[in-house]
Amino acid sequence: MVQDILTIDIQEDQDEDPPSTPRPALWADVPDEKWNDWRWQMANRLNSVEELAQLIHLTSEEIQGLRADGKFRVDITPYFASLIDPDDPNCPIRRQVIPLGRELHAFNGMMEDSLAEDKHSPVPGLVHRYPDRVLMLITTQCASYCRYCTRSRLVGNPAQTFSKVDFEAQLDYLRRTPQVRDVLLSGGDPLVLAPNVLEYILSSLRAIDHIEIIRIGSRVPVFLPQRITDDFADRLKRYAPVWMNIHTNHPKEITPELSRALEKLAFAGVPLGNQSVLLAGINDSVHIQRELVHKLVRNRVRPYYLYQCDLVKGAGHFRTTVAKGIEIIEGLRGHTSGYAVPTYVVDAPGGGGKIPVMPQYMISQGPGKVILRNYEGFITAYDEPADYDPHMIDNLDHQSLHRAEEGQGGVWGLLNGDEDTIRPEGFDALHQRNAEQHRLNFDGHKWERHHLNGNGSNSNGHHNNGHNGNGHNGNGHNSNNGDSH
Ligand code: SF4
Repeated sequence: MVQDILTIDIQEDQDEDPPSTPRPALWADVPDEKWNDWRWQMANRLNSVEELAQLIHLTSEEIQGLRADGKFRVDITPYFASLIDPDDPNCPIRRQVIPLGRELHAFNGMMEDSLAEDKHSPVPGLVHRYPDRVLMLITTQCASYCRYCTRSRLVGNPAQTFSKVDFEAQLDYLRRTPQVRDVLLSGGDPLVLAPNVLEYILSSLRAIDHIEIIRIGSRVPVFLPQRITDDFADRLKRYAPVWMNIHTNHPKEITPELSRALEKLAFAGVPLGNQSVLLAGINDSVHIQRELVHKLVRNRVRPYYLYQCDLVKGAGHFRTTVAKGIEIIEGLRGHTSGYAVPTYVVDAPGGGGKIPVMPQYMISQGPGKVILRNYEGFITAYDEPADYDPHMIDNLDHQSLHRAEEGQGGVWGLLNGDEDTIRPEGFDALHQRNAEQHRLNFDGHKWERHHLNGNGSNSNGHHNNGHNGNGHNGNGHNSNNGDSH
């Protein structure tokens, strides 16, 4: 009897079609095999007023945006276009992919390469900004194009794309740069590359011993979930550990198709994260963000970053204040699970990297006590230990792997005792006021700090690198008037 019931349940489950997004009338006659084929989706993307007008009621500003000379590339997969509300110009899906006339308006602070990525590229397409990881741009093509794209200077332009010669130069740089342990593949979107090209890059990276993890940044699961086939997920498994960050901005993007794609990736052992961009009129709301992060974690995706919109050409009308981002984190942290709260970051204009920004939770401190507040406004004192010994860890610390890149200690380097100051460029020269060497400024040792244990260790038990003891600052410049050594 139990057997019969089980058999019937299984039979009923098998007969049910998996849920899917309703298909607009325009594609009602397309056979399922084609609709579910990523190559068909790519070949039938929409990009003109005429094509889009068959699907949605375009506003005059959208028509102006679509017809503008010099606009960032437009291409939208039929699947993603099917999520658009044809009658709502404020539809969050629509606003992400259909240009408006105002997209081309200049704004204060606008730049072409606002993160100075090309300035941090030792070889074309490889951005080495942080000590132990790199960004490897391997294509400029995407499944669809986001109007606020940070890399619109390159992305969408087939003439700017990367070739085998570029990949070889990037791989060669990585082979001779052993401090790099983490490679992020991005573009453009790595998942639109021909499968054999992507495999060539993955296998070449895996052949480099010091590369510990490979990450892929991709919006393909969102624009083109059909690409995530069982075979594709299986192939990724071979290069494990491969992590993937997808990119969703609004809960409407989380469809049954995306859920199935994410399940395939998760079952293939790919840890999943999400990056969102804070976009005015699309997701600058605590409630929308909360719904988004809840849907993500239900799909095994950890909300990773919420980005402040970059100062990039084309993104002016999407920008919010930083205060809005802080308010959103205020509305998430404590109000929902910690693993559902992304880190809100401003990617520093000029190439400073990601700077986390959050509400202020530590409201005061004094000897032995830290005063903290929680998300409800509850204020409490944390009593700090009076007998804490920061040297207790020294033995274990010395046994652990110390991976440091010279000159990248930053603020932690000050705490660590590697450096005593960080100075803006030109600081020493400015403060020397073209001084002559004289009896009072002659001796550079005057400005060296005395370390009680004599070996440059700070109170955390770490050792400095010897720069402090010879009157040099972190830039390698002499900290006195420059001619005493
Ligand atoms: S998918 Fe990424 S790289 Fe492509 S257009 Fe969107 S933001 Fe830019």
